[in-house]
Amino acid sequence: ITLYRNNQNMKKQRLAGGSSSGDGSLNYTHLQDERRKLPIYTTRHRLLKALQPMSSAIVIGETGSGKTTQLPQYLYESGQHKKLMIACTQPRRVAAITVAQRVAEEMGDQLGHTVGYCVRFEDCTGKDTKIKYMTDGMLLREAIHDPLLKRYSTVILDECHERTIHTDVLFGVVKKAQAERKERGMILLKIIVMSATMDVDHFSNYFNKAPVLYIEGRQYTVKIMYTSEPQSDYVFSALAAVFQVHEESPPNEDILVFLTGQEEIESAVKSIKDIAKDLSQDSPPLIVCPMYAALPSNLQLRIFQHTPKGSRKVIVATNIAETSITIHGIKHVIDTGKVKAKVFNPFSGLDLLKVVNTSKAQAWQRSGRAGREAPGTCYRLYTESEYDQMRDNTLPEIQRCNLSSVILQLLALGIEDVLNFDFMDKPSKESLENAVNQLELLGAVIKDIKPKLTPEGRKMADFPLEPRLAKVILAAKDHSCLEEILTIVSALSVDSVYHTPASKKDDAVAVRNKFMASEGDHLTLLNIYRAYKGVNCNKQWCHDNFLNGRNLRTAVDVKKQLKEICTRQQLPVESCGQDTTAIRKCLCAGFFMNAAELQKEGQYVTVSSRKPVSIHPSSSIFQCKPAYVIYNELIQTSKCYMRDLSVVDADWLYDVAPSYFRRKLSKK
Ligand code: ADP
Ligand code: MG
Repeated sequence: ITLYRNNQNMKKQRLAGGSSSGDGSLNYTHLQDERRKLPIYTTRHRLLKALQPMSSAIVIGETGSGKTTQLPQYLYESGQHKKLMIACTQPRRVAAITVAQRVAEEMGDQLGHTVGYCVRFEDCTGKDTKIKYMTDGMLLREAIHDPLLKRYSTVILDECHERTIHTDVLFGVVKKAQAERKERGMILLKIIVMSATMDVDHFSNYFNKAPVLYIEGRQYTVKIMYTSEPQSDYVFSALAAVFQVHEESPPNEDILVFLTGQEEIESAVKSIKDIAKDLSQDSPPLIVCPMYAALPSNLQLRIFQHTPKGSRKVIVATNIAETSITIHGIKHVIDTGKVKAKVFNPFSGLDLLKVVNTSKAQAWQRSGRAGREAPGTCYRLYTESEYDQMRDNTLPEIQRCNLSSVILQLLALGIEDVLNFDFMDKPSKESLENAVNQLELLGAVIKDIKPKLTPEGRKMADFPLEPRLAKVILAAKDHSCLEEILTIVSALSVDSVYHTPASKKDDAVAVRNKFMASEGDHLTLLNIYRAYKGVNCNKQWCHDNFLNGRNLRTAVDVKKQLKEICTRQQLPVESCGQDTTAIRKCLCAGFFMNAAELQKEGQYVTVSSRKPVSIHPSSSIFQCKPAYVIYNELIQTSKCYMRDLSVVDADWLYDVAPSYFRRKLSKK
């Protein structure tokens, strides 16, 4: 079976591009040369000419053809946008940052001048910034204060096939801004929707039949292999496949493995390294690199480095390597067919992180990564009939996640009829209602004929946080512990503050034991943060204590920003000292819906839907059996685990939401 290109039958303007017989030579000497070699380069003039009169357009091109890095530069160079900015949104903050870095380099400019980026809690733009890479969530936030997006001439919505919740909401927001600007006779807002693959018709129809422009990329034949039997342990199968390819193919043919998450990837990387030690002297050396969103950026850059002659690189990545970043030299792709996704049950109201099967579109994207520079092979660790059963396209996040953040933001944007918002794919009625109910319980909306934002809800929307965390901050006023709450919320808002190398797991746990709080993980985070500040944010100290210094530093910065918002809202930043009860009461105010109760037989069940759950082994209260706990999230692996917990009293829960608990807790 060979990889086919998605050649849908539709009105399309073909913009012939890079030669498909390209020799794939990689001796790029400098960046301008590299730019000129990208498939998009030859289409530059036609692309700009075609885009000029269009108010909306869809641009499709293979991963690596140069869409993200080049198109904003072309638009900028064309000079049509002198005063206003070009926004290019990315679903992932890493992508926004690395792409902006790359483009600044290509333009020979310092990051933050002409080219900048803006992600949550980090704004690297200046008064001269004209090309702004940003997360989709950030543009959405900006729209709250500027619904017409007046600072932008063009909004490029990139990686749209990912259909993140923010992208989906942005679709409606930019479409509305465009229409209103037109109505008022203001400068046109150009909307460009970009992706490597997508259901083009669906997108085109939504944007008033926007034309579709294709950039022909280089795509070589990729041989697809399926397993003959279903695999019970995909991580194990992936390791076996890595070493089979390693034995059978010449060096310098790099391997890209798709797994699902940080822990899984780190442990696979360790296994590969361990096994490689025992291989014969003749086999080529293996360079093994993990790749996931939370990986420190210096380690991320390793995957872009060329593999030394005679060795082989193995990159073990999440779906981040599907389309948002391009890696050279990949000849073999090992696709487990799995991805970690947020799924939401509108009846229980729970968001759950869970490993699920990919869609067919994702499977093709993954295999395509093997044919960027020469023909390659993709090993699918599932059978052909399992492939046939996959969904065609990834289910939009908006149809599987908790919508309370979205509804709160839409209300803050001034959209009155949120339940009938112009969604490209409307979420189910249950999940919309569930979100409104949750916001009502948090005191953010009142249900009239239509849901309306309360003054409290407006304050909550001001924080770049999910509504429950924003509520916790507002509640701190009543318990005089905002100082501590800001610390905890900041620590929860960054990637893990722990650093646990797979080979030193036991050491890490032992060393960090001194921070563990018997009241739970939130207080543990507080202890860590305080200790970190106590040593003046010392890097070596972080290293010695198996803590991630970079993320802790970010937490300090996040706290500063949250504090500014609190000051604007005139919330007094007071400290409760050692009174952990006050802190946990505040946490209840936001997370009472995430309470779990111990049963006689020693099992926990969630209060909301009586679902059996367990305390995550990494929790500081793993060995304890408190009667009531609250948690921040649930993850489903072999069991359903609660993560980030605090021990609470039933009374505190009653106090924050009496009517809710009267209904829920009476069954005891
Ligand atoms: P697309 O958006 O079409 O997938 P990009 O514009 O992201 O393509 O990438 C175009 C090319 O730019 C890639 O093939 C790669 O060679 C180069 N590139 C992009 N980002 C980086 C980076 N951080 N480091 C090195 N090369 C990069
Ligand atoms: Mg791209």
